[in-house]
Amino acid sequence: MASVSTTTSGADWEYAPAPESREIVTIRPEYGLFVNGEFVPPASGESFTTLNPASEEPLARVAQAGAADVDRAVASARKAFEATWGRLPGQERAKYLYRIARVIQERAREFAVLESLDNGKPIKESRDVDVPLAAAHFFYHAGWADKLGYAGFGPDPRPIGVAGQVIPWNFPLLMAAWKLAPALATGNTCVLKPAETTPLTALLLAEVIAEAGLPPGTVNIITGDGRTGAELVGHGGVDKIAFTGSTEVGKQIAETVAGTGKRLTLELGGKAANVVFDDAPIDQAVEGIVNGIFFNQGHVCCAGSRLLVQESVAGPVLDRLKRRLATLRLGDPLDKNTDIGAINSRPQLDKIEGLVAAGEAEGAQRWSPPCQLPAKGYWFPPTVFSGVSQSHKIAREEIFGPVLSVLTFRTPEEAVAKANNTPYGLSAGVWTEKGSRILWMAQRLRAGVVWANTYNRFDPASPFGGYQESGFGREGGRAGLAAYLDA
Ligand code: NDP
Repeated sequence: MASVSTTTSGADWEYAPAPESREIVTIRPEYGLFVNGEFVPPASGESFTTLNPASEEPLARVAQAGAADVDRAVASARKAFEATWGRLPGQERAKYLYRIARVIQERAREFAVLESLDNGKPIKESRDVDVPLAAAHFFYHAGWADKLGYAGFGPDPRPIGVAGQVIPWNFPLLMAAWKLAPALATGNTCVLKPAETTPLTALLLAEVIAEAGLPPGTVNIITGDGRTGAELVGHGGVDKIAFTGSTEVGKQIAETVAGTGKRLTLELGGKAANVVFDDAPIDQAVEGIVNGIFFNQGHVCCAGSRLLVQESVAGPVLDRLKRRLATLRLGDPLDKNTDIGAINSRPQLDKIEGLVAAGEAEGAQRWSPPCQLPAKGYWFPPTVFSGVSQSHKIAREEIFGPVLSVLTFRTPEEAVAKANNTPYGLSAGVWTEKGSRILWMAQRLRAGVVWANTYNRFDPASPFGGYQESGFGREGGRAGLAAYLDA
C-alpha cells in the first residue's frame, strides 16, 4: 500500500515509497496469556483476531481471558508479591528494570514495526516516540527503585501489593510502560490488560520481561476485551487499579471500586484547548496545532482538539494551517514518509464519522485537503471545522480522531473562559511571545498539563494526569510514584 499525498498544490513530483520492512517481526499465529512467567492457553478456550487496521489483514489469534484466567493471573501476582518481587531490595528491582529498558532499545525496530502493524500509527511515530519513550519510562523508574526512602514518602515507603492495570489502544506499548515501570519500581506486582485491538506489543513486552529474568508472576499480561477488564477491576485479590481509557468506562470502574478499599487512579478523556494569541510566531504555532491534533491520528487523550485563536489573526492562521495540511501524507503506516496512518478500528471510525456529521448538521464549516483514502482499511482525512460555537457537539465531546474544531476569542479573559468551558481538564497549550502571559494563562487554565509554545511533549519525569472528568492521580515523576506506594 502506498502513501497518498494529500497535496493538490500543483506539485508535479511525488515522494518515492520508503517502506520499513516487516521482516524483522515474527508474528505467531496464536498467542496465549502470559501468566507466572510463561505463555499458557486460556482456561476459557476462547480467542479473537487482531487486525492490521490499515489493511484489515488478520495478524494473529489472541486469547480471551475469562474469570478463571484472571483469577490465575492475580494469584500468580500475589504469590510473586509475597515470595519474591515484594521482598527484593530496591537496588535489585532496579537491575531488572534497567534490563527491560535495554532490551526494548535493542529490539526497538521490532517493537516499532509491530506497533504500526497492530495499531495503524505511522512508523515514524512508533519509531521516534512510542518505543523510545517506553524505554525511557523503564530507565527513569529504575533510577527511583533504590531511592524511594529519599523521595519524601517517609523513610521506608511500602508497595501496595497487586496492581490491576487496564490500558487503551492509542499508545499500546507506551501505556504498558507507563503502568508497569512505576508499579515495579515501587515493589508491586502486576496484572496488565491491553486493549482488544492492540495486544501484540504488550505480548512482545511479555517476552522481553521473561528474557530479563523477572521472577515468575511479577508481571502477568492477560488479553481480552472489556469483559476481561471488568473481571480484573472487580477481582477481590487486587489492591490497586490503574486505568487509562474513556471517561464512560472510568466512571463504571470508579463505581465498582468504591467502598472496596482498592486504590484507584484514572486517566480519562480530554478536550484540550490550544490557545493561539496574536503575538505568537505563526509558523511555529501552526506546526504546534498540527502536532497537537494530527499526531497519532488524533487518538490522543491530551490532543489539542479545540483551537482557540485570537480573532485578529484567525484568518492568516487558518490559511497557513490549511496550506500545511495539504502537505501531509496519509497512507501506509509502514512508509517512513507517512504523517497520518489508519484509524485504529471500525468502531472508532464510525464514532469519528458520527461526530463529524453532527458538526455539519449543527452548522460548522467542514474542510479537508483533497485526499484519496486507501480502498481497504479504516481511514479518515485530516479535518478542520471553522465557525464552531461552544455549544456544538464537536466543541464538547472527545472525537479521538484527526478532527480540529476552531473557535475564536478577543481577550485573554475570554480565552480562559472558553478553554475552561469543558467537563474535562487534562491538558492545554498556549502560544504567545510574552512570558508573563504564559504564566498568567497557566495559572488560570484548569488542566493537568499546560504546554507553552509547544504541544504533546512527554517526559517520564513530568507528572501527567487530569482534573474533573479527565480523571485523577498522576503518572510519571515523583507524583506518579505516590500512586503505587502505601505512604
Ligand atoms: P475504553 O475505555 O472502552 O477502553 C480502554 C480499556 O478498558 C480497554 O482495554 C478496554 O478493553 C477496557 N474496558 C472496556 N470496558 C471495560 C470495563 N467495563 N471494565 C474494565 N475495562 C474495560 O475505550 P474504547 O477503546 O472503547 O474507546 C472509546 C472512546 O474512549 C474513544 O473513542 C475515545 O474517545 C476514548 N478513549 C480515550 C482514551 C484516553 O486515553 N483518554 C483512550 C482510549 C479511548 P477493550 O479494548 O477490549 O474494549
